[in-house]
Amino acid sequence: MELYNTLSGKKEKLERPAGRPLKLFVCGPTVYDYSHIGHARTYVFFDALVRYLRAAGWGVAYIQNITDVDDRIIARAKENQEGPLALAKRFAQAYFDDMKALGIASVTKYAPATRFIPEIVKQVQLLQKKGFAYEIAGDGIYFDIAKFPAYGALSHRTALQAEDSVSRIDESVAKRNKGDFCLWKFPKSPVTAPFYKRFLVTADGEPVWRTALGWGRPGWHIEDTAISVKYFGPQYDLHGGAMDLKFPHHEAEIAQAEAAYDRTPFVKLWLHTGFLTVQGEKMSKSLGNFITIRDFLKKHSADALRYIALSAHYRTPINYSEEMAQTAEAAVGGMRAFCAKLAFVEKTVPAGQASGEVARLIAATAQNFSEALDDDFATPAALGALFALTREIQPKLWVLSGQDARALRLAIGEKFGLLGFVLPAPQQIPPKIAALAQKRELSRRSKQFEQSDTLRKEIGALGYSIEDTPLGPFVSKE
Ligand SMILES: [Zn+2]
Repeated sequence: MELYNTLSGKKEKLERPAGRPLKLFVCGPTVYDYSHIGHARTYVFFDALVRYLRAAGWGVAYIQNITDVDDRIIARAKENQEGPLALAKRFAQAYFDDMKALGIASVTKYAPATRFIPEIVKQVQLLQKKGFAYEIAGDGIYFDIAKFPAYGALSHRTALQAEDSVSRIDESVAKRNKGDFCLWKFPKSPVTAPFYKRFLVTADGEPVWRTALGWGRPGWHIEDTAISVKYFGPQYDLHGGAMDLKFPHHEAEIAQAEAAYDRTPFVKLWLHTGFLTVQGEKMSKSLGNFITIRDFLKKHSADALRYIALSAHYRTPINYSEEMAQTAEAAVGGMRAFCAKLAFVEKTVPAGQASGEVARLIAATAQNFSEALDDDFATPAALGALFALTREIQPKLWVLSGQDARALRLAIGEKFGLLGFVLPAPQQIPPKIAALAQKRELSRRSKQFEQSDTLRKEIGALGYSIEDTPLGPFVSKE
């Protein structure tokens, strides 16, 4: 399989590690609010990628960090008059619930930053010892980007350009270079605490830990490298995240890890997912176009969101609209209906002979499907191959043998399942509905159209629909 490596700017072969799983780290959420459908896009993509690799027999160790200490968490907790860790814990749980609702179960380990304070402290100390970090009294410990000439290589910026974007925790007038970023933040005012206290929330609402670096809390970038080094060592295979994390976040990760451990490259392949805008605008609460995953799922299915994420290539932007959700729902609904009809054929007609033509179509589809995914995980083309198969079969649907219908249903189900879609098992029609349908069929055949119509309405009122096919009435749940 080839994937586009942001670092080299080229598609590169993803090497299968010998004797160990592939090591994948993806930036998780900062848990100060509910996750939105833009986040979902990234996590659905990595979920599908990992499912595909695992189905091909690869082992994948997939870690996601959870940023549960951050300026935004502190600010939100103050607004809410809630403890910062309690707020983070609440939204971390909401995130896990959302992932579950989206059918994302591929992550091997979720790693909340606050559980890795000793590892973070050790890494900061190492950077200090090697001369890459310096302390500003009463402020924090910073990484000196001038000491790391490769800074900017991932985002293809020079260090000077690199100075134009820093997050709030990194702002300080006393920094050596404007782009220097914070590794460890000291509390705003000195902490006085009994000797046995190791953690507290200051009067300013900051969660701080007592460590060898003094009281304080970690910067954002250092949590990822402390966590990944702990589980993966100083070098690993794949790092992913949304496009906007490329700089400065991932750039800073490379600087920290390579400066601390002298191993290049820190990560072999960097994958970045494109943006998701809503009606052409970046999602924001003030614009009123902020769509959380849970809001989306109140109106639409998880498969529809998965379809939205995967029917665009992962690196291209998605401009979301309500119509897009409708289209996605229609697409997955159509595929479900098609599979239900295949199940109906399978049940209604004899198994018969397997036709060479259907076998050939299935094999060609499977090949197009994997060729697309092996080429930079081109999910639109992979989905396209499946929809092309249904279009090809549609005119022959009612003349398929039972055996062919079954082969098609299983092949389509397998490929959709591989990308994480939940095509439900063939519906069981309750005996009461089946009896009504049979009664209607009898009245239809004896041309008692009025009675037949009344029965159809009765069936409809119970939540089922009837379609008359050459094989008899096809009943399905609406
Ligand atoms: Zn990260």
